[in-house]
Amino acid sequence: MDDKVIVDLLGQVGNLFTSSLELKETIDFMLKSASDLVNSDAATVFLVDEDGQGLSAIATFPFAENVSKVAHFKFGEGIVGWAAQKRQAVAVTDATKDSRFKTLNMAYAPRSCLVMPLESPRRLVGTLTIARREVQPFTTVEQALMQIIANQASISIENARLYNTQKQQLGEIAVQKRELEVANAQINEISRLKSEFLANMSHELRTPLNAILGFSEILKDNLVELTDGQRHECMENIHASGKHLLELVNDVLDLSKIEAGRMELQYERFLVANAVRDVYNVIRALSDRREIQLDFSIDPEDLDVRADKSKFKQVLYNLLSNAIKFTERGGRVWVKSRQEHDNLAVEVGDTGIGIPREHQLRIFDEFYQVEHSSNRQVEGTGLGLSLTRHLLQLHGGWINVTSDAGKGSVFTFHIPLGGMEAATRHQNRILLVEDNESNRELAKMVLLGNGFDVDIAVSGSEGLHKAWSTLYDLVLMDVKLPDMDGLTVTRMLKADPKTAATPVIALTANAMKGDEQAALAAGCSGYIAKPIEVAGFVRQVFTFLEARTK
Ligand code: ADP
Repeated sequence: MDDKVIVDLLGQVGNLFTSSLELKETIDFMLKSASDLVNSDAATVFLVDEDGQGLSAIATFPFAENVSKVAHFKFGEGIVGWAAQKRQAVAVTDATKDSRFKTLNMAYAPRSCLVMPLESPRRLVGTLTIARREVQPFTTVEQALMQIIANQASISIENARLYNTQKQQLGEIAVQKRELEVANAQINEISRLKSEFLANMSHELRTPLNAILGFSEILKDNLVELTDGQRHECMENIHASGKHLLELVNDVLDLSKIEAGRMELQYERFLVANAVRDVYNVIRALSDRREIQLDFSIDPEDLDVRADKSKFKQVLYNLLSNAIKFTERGGRVWVKSRQEHDNLAVEVGDTGIGIPREHQLRIFDEFYQVEHSSNRQVEGTGLGLSLTRHLLQLHGGWINVTSDAGKGSVFTFHIPLGGMEAATRHQNRILLVEDNESNRELAKMVLLGNGFDVDIAVSGSEGLHKAWSTLYDLVLMDVKLPDMDGLTVTRMLKADPKTAATPVIALTANAMKGDEQAALAAGCSGYIAKPIEVAGFVRQVFTFLEARTK
């Protein structure tokens, strides 16, 4: 090879080694340029193992498929290990006559060979070996050329390694950053709701208190001449405001009791018609005042249910008072009760202002109120629906809403007719979060066929909101979802006290050990591999549910 070609090649070597950050590209190029510059039968690169205990072959040229056969050397073992340990280039005239040589397979036995340690300024990164099948020792010029390549390549390999590590760390940081953002958003939201609650609470307390103080002052100090009728009205106002304050305090206490797990239900069997009539008698004054038509229907009329009667009435009262509160004068409000399988279904509907779609899930959150232009004239704390949902969940039930802004709303709740125990015995409610249609349909068919009650969500955010608005016995969570991944959704469910206790089972196509651990680390109670095997799938679902009720 003439000098110009050599200089050109060395120039190229320098350029590529400084420009490439890809390990494989660097190494392949090093091997190719080594064999272009120096005539040889095989060239191999060994890199120091991660544990620093030995060297493994990672590429050979031209017999790339032989790399696994060239294998591994410990430091000090064989000529490769020897050169690495001594950090010294070794030129061997005939390997078969060198006692340091470890021949793994005689079919590939080299004769003359050259081993160069690859050293970056920081550390030893590996070795470069070139070999000939014939005894034809490497000349001093060839050794010098190889030394240049080895020096350049070492730095380049080290850079590529550092770059890869950095890339990996950046990836991990990006994941952590996303998780932090989600957690942060939750904290901000909680803190916003808290401030909003305090502002609302003080407003809510102040309004009736002002009425009480104002009217009682008039009575106490005889500030104005009052007729008997006016005096009576003052006292009525004080009484009503006092009652309102009590309700407010009770709502807050109820909620904190439920959240602390101290709310106990007093189960009894009663006629739905009786409870509805009791609520009707209380609420009629409200609807009459606003000229709202109030209709009730119960099918069948003698339908009975096993539940906590006073909590049941509280739920009905909350829904009805909202329906009346948010319906214009002259509108219509109705209650329809019916039996649906083993459940009592109660629908509370109105022809009122309705709830825009984007608020429909949030209204069940504590203190959440939809901003209306006329909002402040409508009283309330934003606690009623949250309390309602909690009370229904305690009964093993759930609630949802359908609404068209401007046309009205329908809230429907279900509770098991036979009480909570009957609910867990009969039907388990499962939320299936799966974006792939055929997987979804298969799992749904299998679950329905086995008597489960199945709700579907096709994206992470839909799953999240469904799980937040309804109490499920089990959530089956696909890990790969289009908007946010299933494990992030799981972490968010586990971070929320409302859903922390709901077991989540990951459904994933990557049935590898690492995924199982990632799922468990995210808070999943278990893991089912896809594609599902029908009999095993049902057995696993039953097992998870049984474990939950123990
Ligand atoms: P409150 O009624 O005390 O504000 P709730 O938790 O009962 O609190 O309701 C939360 C919010 O949901 C209400 O502020 C209102 O914006 C909306 N909402 C509830 N029920 C209805 C309804 N029937 N029609 C329209 N909006 C409703």
